[in-house]
Amino acid sequence: MRIGVLALQGDFIEHEHMLQRLGIDVAEVRLPGDLDDLDAVIMPGGESTTFAKLAVRFGLMEPLRRFAGEGKATWGTCAGLIFMSKDIGRNQPTLGLMDIRVKRNAFGRQIDSFSAGLHIDQIEGPPFPGVFIRAPIIESVAPGVEVLSTLDDGTIVAARQDNLVVTSFHPELTGDTRMHEYFAAMAQSCRHRQPEP
Ligand code: GLN
Repeated sequence: MRIGVLALQGDFIEHEHMLQRLGIDVAEVRLPGDLDDLDAVIMPGGESTTFAKLAVRFGLMEPLRRFAGEGKATWGTCAGLIFMSKDIGRNQPTLGLMDIRVKRNAFGRQIDSFSAGLHIDQIEGPPFPGVFIRAPIIESVAPGVEVLSTLDDGTIVAARQDNLVVTSFHPELTGDTRMHEYFAAMAQSCRHRQPEP
Protein backbone atom coordinates (compact mmCIF):
# COMPACT_ATOMS: atom_id res chain seq x y z
CA MET A 1 0.00 0.00 0.00
CA ARG A 2 1.16 3.49 -0.86
CA ILE A 3 -0.16 6.68 0.76
CA GLY A 4 0.46 10.15 -0.70
CA VAL A 5 0.72 13.39 1.26
CA LEU A 6 -0.22 16.68 -0.40
CA ALA A 7 3.11 18.51 -0.28
CA LEU A 8 2.29 22.04 -1.46
CA GLN A 9 2.75 23.72 1.92
CA GLY A 10 2.27 22.93 5.61
CA ASP A 11 3.32 20.03 7.82
CA PHE A 12 3.43 17.25 5.21
CA ILE A 13 6.82 15.97 6.46
CA GLU A 14 5.33 15.16 9.87
CA HIS A 15 2.63 13.03 8.23
CA GLU A 16 5.29 11.27 6.17
CA HIS A 17 7.27 10.46 9.31
CA MET A 18 4.19 9.01 11.01
CA LEU A 19 3.41 6.79 8.01
CA GLN A 20 7.05 5.69 7.76
CA ARG A 21 6.98 4.73 11.44
CA LEU A 22 4.13 2.40 10.53
CA GLY A 23 6.18 0.91 7.68
CA ILE A 24 3.93 2.42 5.00
CA ASP A 25 5.27 3.44 1.60
CA VAL A 26 4.90 7.23 1.24
CA ALA A 27 4.85 9.63 -1.73
CA GLU A 28 4.67 13.42 -1.98
CA VAL A 29 1.90 14.88 -4.13
CA ARG A 30 2.62 18.15 -5.94
CA LEU A 31 1.40 17.49 -9.48
CA PRO A 32 -1.53 15.48 -10.87
CA GLY A 33 0.72 12.62 -12.04
CA ASP A 34 1.89 12.10 -8.45
CA LEU A 35 -1.54 10.63 -7.67
CA ASP A 36 -0.97 7.66 -9.98
CA ASP A 37 -0.55 4.37 -8.12
CA LEU A 38 -1.60 5.81 -4.76
CA ASP A 39 -4.13 4.05 -2.57
CA ALA A 40 -4.89 7.02 -0.31
CA VAL A 41 -3.98 10.63 0.23
CA ILE A 42 -3.56 12.96 3.23
CA MET A 43 -4.05 16.74 3.15
CA PRO A 44 -1.88 18.16 5.94
CA GLY A 45 -2.18 21.18 8.22
CA GLY A 46 -0.95 24.53 7.01
CA GLU A 47 -2.83 27.40 5.43
CA SER A 48 -5.91 26.45 3.44
CA THR A 49 -5.89 29.65 1.36
CA THR A 50 -2.35 28.77 0.20
CA PHE A 51 -3.36 25.16 -0.56
CA ALA A 52 -6.20 26.49 -2.70
CA LYS A 53 -4.00 28.92 -4.64
CA LEU A 54 -1.27 26.37 -5.33
CA ALA A 55 -3.64 23.49 -6.12
CA VAL A 56 -5.45 25.67 -8.67
CA ARG A 57 -2.13 26.76 -10.18
CA PHE A 58 -0.76 23.20 -10.42
CA GLY A 59 -3.99 21.79 -11.87
CA LEU A 60 -4.59 19.58 -8.86
CA MET A 61 -8.20 20.45 -8.00
CA GLU A 62 -9.98 18.11 -10.42
CA PRO A 63 -7.46 15.25 -10.07
CA LEU A 64 -7.84 15.36 -6.26
CA ARG A 65 -11.66 15.44 -6.57
CA ARG A 66 -11.52 12.48 -8.96
CA PHE A 67 -9.18 10.56 -6.65
CA ALA A 68 -11.55 10.90 -3.70
CA GLY A 69 -14.58 10.41 -5.96
CA GLU A 70 -13.19 7.01 -6.98
CA GLY A 71 -13.61 5.93 -3.36
CA LYS A 72 -9.96 6.15 -2.34
CA ALA A 73 -9.31 7.02 1.30
CA THR A 74 -8.69 10.74 1.82
CA TRP A 75 -7.88 12.44 5.14
CA GLY A 76 -7.59 16.14 5.91
CA THR A 77 -6.05 17.53 9.11
CA CYS A 78 -6.84 21.15 10.08
CA ALA A 79 -6.20 23.21 6.90
CA GLY A 80 -6.65 19.90 5.05
CA LEU A 81 -10.10 19.60 6.66
CA ILE A 82 -11.01 23.08 5.39
CA PHE A 83 -9.70 22.22 1.93
CA MET A 84 -11.90 19.08 1.77
CA SER A 85 -15.12 20.74 2.96
CA LYS A 86 -18.19 21.77 0.98
CA ASP A 87 -19.14 24.86 2.97
CA ILE A 88 -16.61 27.13 4.67
CA GLY A 89 -18.83 30.20 4.63
CA ARG A 90 -16.54 32.27 2.44
CA ASN A 91 -15.39 32.52 -1.11
CA GLN A 92 -12.25 30.37 -1.14
CA PRO A 93 -11.79 27.39 -3.47
CA THR A 94 -12.13 24.02 -1.76
CA LEU A 95 -12.37 20.47 -3.07
CA GLY A 96 -15.99 20.36 -1.87
CA LEU A 97 -15.84 16.70 -0.89
CA MET A 98 -17.23 16.47 2.65
CA ASP A 99 -20.83 17.45 3.40
CA ILE A 100 -19.92 19.58 6.38
CA ARG A 101 -20.08 23.24 7.32
CA VAL A 102 -16.81 24.54 8.73
CA LYS A 103 -15.71 27.65 10.56
CA ARG A 104 -12.07 28.60 10.12
CA ASN A 105 -9.92 29.86 12.99
CA ALA A 106 -12.80 29.10 15.34
CA PHE A 107 -10.75 29.15 18.55
CA GLY A 108 -9.00 32.45 17.84
CA ARG A 109 -5.43 33.24 16.93
CA GLN A 110 -2.20 31.23 16.99
CA ILE A 111 -1.67 32.17 20.63
CA ASP A 112 -4.99 30.52 21.53
CA SER A 113 -3.69 27.12 20.42
CA PHE A 114 -4.31 24.34 22.94
CA SER A 115 -4.31 20.60 23.43
CA ALA A 116 -7.10 18.43 24.79
CA GLY A 117 -7.56 14.72 25.49
CA LEU A 118 -10.10 13.38 23.02
CA HIS A 119 -12.30 10.36 22.78
CA ILE A 120 -12.36 9.29 19.11
CA ASP A 121 -14.81 6.68 17.91
CA GLN A 122 -13.11 3.34 17.18
CA ILE A 123 -9.80 4.43 18.71
CA GLU A 124 -9.15 2.38 21.79
CA GLY A 125 -7.05 3.16 24.82
CA PRO A 126 -6.30 6.41 26.64
CA PRO A 127 -7.60 9.79 25.43
CA PHE A 128 -6.02 10.88 22.16
CA PRO A 129 -3.79 13.99 22.39
CA GLY A 130 -5.68 16.57 20.32
CA VAL A 131 -3.38 19.41 19.22
CA PHE A 132 -5.36 22.44 18.01
CA ILE A 133 -3.44 25.19 16.17
CA ARG A 134 -5.60 28.03 14.83
CA ALA A 135 -8.00 25.20 14.17
CA PRO A 136 -11.34 25.11 12.41
CA ILE A 137 -14.46 23.53 13.88
CA ILE A 138 -17.19 21.58 12.16
CA GLU A 139 -20.38 23.56 12.74
CA SER A 140 -22.72 20.99 11.23
CA VAL A 141 -22.69 17.72 9.32
CA ALA A 142 -25.16 16.49 6.68
CA PRO A 143 -26.93 13.13 7.02
CA GLY A 144 -24.48 10.39 6.07
CA VAL A 145 -21.58 12.08 7.86
CA GLU A 146 -20.56 10.36 11.07
CA VAL A 147 -19.21 12.44 13.96
CA LEU A 148 -16.07 10.73 15.31
CA SER A 149 -15.07 13.13 18.07
CA THR A 150 -16.28 16.20 19.95
CA LEU A 151 -14.84 18.43 22.63
CA ASP A 152 -16.54 18.33 26.06
CA ASP A 153 -18.84 21.19 25.00
CA GLY A 154 -20.08 19.22 21.98
CA THR A 155 -17.97 21.03 19.34
CA ILE A 156 -17.35 18.59 16.47
CA VAL A 157 -13.64 18.07 15.75
CA ALA A 158 -13.54 14.87 13.68
CA ALA A 159 -15.92 13.31 11.17
CA ARG A 160 -16.10 10.62 8.53
CA GLN A 161 -18.11 10.21 5.34
CA ASP A 162 -17.46 6.87 3.62
CA ASN A 163 -13.86 7.06 2.29
CA LEU A 164 -13.32 10.60 3.64
CA VAL A 165 -12.17 11.56 7.11
CA VAL A 166 -11.32 14.93 8.66
CA THR A 167 -9.79 16.04 11.95
CA SER A 168 -9.51 19.67 13.04
CA PHE A 169 -6.51 18.70 15.20
CA HIS A 170 -3.01 17.44 14.25
CA PRO A 171 -2.25 13.77 15.05
CA GLU A 172 0.94 14.15 12.97
CA LEU A 173 2.37 16.51 15.62
CA THR A 174 2.09 13.96 18.40
CA GLY A 175 3.95 10.73 19.07
CA ASP A 176 0.64 8.87 18.92
CA THR A 177 0.23 6.84 15.73
CA ARG A 178 -3.31 5.57 16.44
CA MET A 179 -5.07 7.99 14.06
CA HIS A 180 -2.61 7.15 11.27
CA GLU A 181 -3.22 3.45 11.95
CA TYR A 182 -6.96 4.10 11.73
CA PHE A 183 -6.44 5.82 8.36
CA ALA A 184 -4.19 3.05 7.05
CA ALA A 185 -6.87 0.48 7.93
CA MET A 186 -9.47 2.66 6.21
CA ALA A 187 -7.23 2.93 3.12
CA GLN A 188 -6.86 -0.84 3.11
CA SER A 189 -10.60 -1.47 3.24
CA CYS A 190 -11.31 1.19 0.57
CA ARG A 191 -8.73 -0.53 -1.61
CA HIS A 192 -10.59 -3.82 -1.36
CA ARG A 193 -13.74 -2.06 -2.51
CA GLN A 194 -12.04 -0.68 -5.67
CA PRO A 195 -13.18 -2.22 -8.96
CA GLU A 196 -10.48 -4.29 -10.67
CA PRO A 197 -8.77 -2.35 -13.53
N1 GLN B 1 -5.91 28.50 10.19
C1 GLN B 1 -5.49 27.68 9.10
C2 GLN B 1 -6.43 27.81 7.90
O1 GLN B 1 -7.40 28.47 7.99
C3 GLN B 1 -5.41 26.23 9.54
C4 GLN B 1 -4.34 26.06 10.58
C5 GLN B 1 -3.69 24.71 10.63
O2 GLN B 1 -3.72 23.92 9.67
N2 GLN B 1 -3.04 24.46 11.74
O3 GLN B 1 -6.18 27.28 6.88
